[in-house]
Amino acid sequence: MSIATAPPVPVELPGGRSDLVVVGAGIVGLAHAFEAVRRGLSVTVVERDRRPVGASVRNFGHCCVTAQRGELLDLAAASRTGWVDAAARAGFWAPEAGALVVARSATELAVLEELRDERGADAVRLRTRDEIGDALGRPADARDDLVGGAHLPADLRVNPREAAPRLAAWLARQPGVDILWGTNVVGVESGTVHTSRGPVHGDQVLVCVGHDLDRLHPVEAEAHGIERCRLSMARVEAPPAFRTDAAVLTATSMLRYDGFTAMPSAVPLRAEVTAHSRELLDVVANVMFTRLPDGTVLVGDSHAYDATEIPFQDEGTTELLLREAARVLGVPRVRVTERWQGVYASSGRGPLLVRDVAPGVRALSVTSGIGMTLSFGLAAATFEGALRATA
Ligand SMILES: Cc1cc2nc3c(=O)[nH]c(=O)nc-3n(C[C@H](O)[C@H](O)[C@H](O)COP(=O)(O)OP(=O)(O)OC[C@H]3O[C@@H](n4cnc5c(N)ncnc54)[C@H](O)[C@@H]3O)c2cc1C
Repeated sequence: MSIATAPPVPVELPGGRSDLVVVGAGIVGLAHAFEAVRRGLSVTVVERDRRPVGASVRNFGHCCVTAQRGELLDLAAASRTGWVDAAARAGFWAPEAGALVVARSATELAVLEELRDERGADAVRLRTRDEIGDALGRPADARDDLVGGAHLPADLRVNPREAAPRLAAWLARQPGVDILWGTNVVGVESGTVHTSRGPVHGDQVLVCVGHDLDRLHPVEAEAHGIERCRLSMARVEAPPAFRTDAAVLTATSMLRYDGFTAMPSAVPLRAEVTAHSRELLDVVANVMFTRLPDGTVLVGDSHAYDATEIPFQDEGTTELLLREAARVLGVPRVRVTERWQGVYASSGRGPLLVRDVAPGVRALSVTSGIGMTLSFGLAAATFEGALRATA
């Protein structure tokens, strides 16, 4: 499967001045461009590559709403609305399929029950062992390890290989929008973005370059402690009976997202996972998977943090994740068709970097690995003036 491509046509810089220049055609930059178009603004998007190839096409395509908490939950809920609107206008796949959380112990189920008590039975729909088994497509006699689970209906799915490219293609067809592919940004100042092809002018500039913020604005990136988080991913052939479009989450997911970790039973759950699967915690695993429209399944992930990512992928880590996914699917093994490494911006200092780096120039980076989830909510908040920036 290839991702949608933009043809390598000659790039011409726009002659005039846009209301907004966006640096970076990942989902964060494109969501801002989309929101700007909705508000009748002219936009120039400047992207160094010929098509989106960053974190926004390498992920699970899971808009993970319910597992967020506090301000991030509000942003995620607003983002869901933006995704549905963008999918309808740009014509990409975005089923409102939710997420399925599989519980394989009483402690795992307790976390889900506590979340249900906090959010309500409509937001967290508890499921029996057989309902989970059916959703996973497991035979009735191969469900002994399942205890139950939950369906989180607010979560949304997209195909990450299609969503950003389709959105970019739709944007490029709108009046007042220019997308400059293959154009590297080398510096930004108020009103002007300096590129490898010459200057691009705009009243406002948004720098949405993810983890590469340290290349353009190293001081701001360092002040926020931005690192690169590297993740091992694989695409596998799915067992034929596995047909749900819901994202499938497991115990390690419950140790990762704030919505789950705030539950009292998350503490004993960590002890339990440490006791039976220490190796998963050693690679900071979040064992989860999502099905693409062609029936193949994206499986991940592990997390390794460094300022510059290590280029070598450890086969043991990938094998570990594949083994776990196969266990949840109830099959002996899964056949891999692709492997890749994903990289996103991460920081221990907070989930978002929002900095006004010069008058009319804002840098915006999601530093918590949930940029797909938040993108359209962030864009709405930016234009509503609701995002607090650090000067
Ligand atoms: C394996 C993996 C799984 C994930 N799973 C999920 C998930 O299920 N749900 C979720 O919510 N999030 C998930 N994430 C996180 C999410 O993908 C990211 O947070 C999000 O895609 C970040 O979007 P972005 O636009 O900031 O970055 P990117 O998609 O990386 O885009 C940044 C763009 O800026 C461009 N750029 C950089 N420097 C320059 C320059 N100097 N000039 C011009 N262009 C430049 C790059 O080429 C790139 O296209 C996952 C991430 C990974 C890697």
